Amino acid sequence: MKVYIHTDIEGTAGWVFYAKFADQGPMNVAHIERMNRLLTGEVAAAARASLDSGADEVWVNDAHGPCYNVLFEELPRQCQIIHGRAGHFDGWLSCFDSTADALVCTGQHAMAGTPHAVCSHSMWHVNGDAVRLSEATMAAALAGYHSVPCVCVSGDDRVCAEVREKIPRAEAVTVKWGIAAQNARSLMPQEACERIYDGVCAGLTRRQEIPPLVIPGPYRLNISDRDPGKMILPKDVEGEDFWETVHRALNRTGYGHYGEDATDDGSFRWPPDKTER
Ligand SMILES: [Zn+2]
Repeated sequence: MKVYIHTDIEGTAGWVFYAKFADQGPMNVAHIERMNRLLTGEVAAAARASLDSGADEVWVNDAHGPCYNVLFEELPRQCQIIHGRAGHFDGWLSCFDSTADALVCTGQHAMAGTPHAVCSHSMWHVNGDAVRLSEATMAAALAGYHSVPCVCVSGDDRVCAEVREKIPRAEAVTVKWGIAAQNARSLMPQEACERIYDGVCAGLTRRQEIPPLVIPGPYRLNISDRDPGKMILPKDVEGEDFWETVHRALNRTGYGHYGEDATDDGSFRWPPDKTER
């Protein structure tokens, strides 16, 4: 069994603030390191649950901001990690195809405009607003394109509510409850990790009963960031093939270069200076 773990950070227990990479001051750096440690704990819990449920392959996709957040040296040795140079992977779910048996998403946050949600952002507008997807349910839909079910999502209470609505058979593990944009009631990391472990085990056990999330086409896509009323693309991107249309839309936003052969032009060095994280 091959499990693909797609990770974000804003839905991690204990996260309420972004840091700015442009600020290399000690408090900011300590904050980044601490959040990355908390993120890693939750990813490791999902990875352990996958292995204990019979996975012989666990691929971890480090997908937040600079895409270089997970302290991979702390993951179980059987894992493989996909990371580095944000927006220059082969796809938003990099290396994902129908050879995966299940998708797991950790650290997920609510979509743009969700009241009282922590660091809510991103909304996919599908066919006008016939369907609205968060980053978590977009990941599930991209897996669904390959007929792979999303079996477990962890994150805040708002994204879990969205997952329960769109993928009712999947496990949704709430690790914190939003109070305001940067304020939450959160589980302690150890408890969050235990609940994620249990959720991933339960989801993988029932994976045959969880239908892949398939968004029917044809498609007309747009995306907003913080303000769900403000589309990033001046014109909707249209297409018949979901995976291809999503990536064409992402590449038109200006911060995605998915599937394009990126050369080392010297413009991306560690630490990335413009990435909010
Ligand atoms: Zn993120």
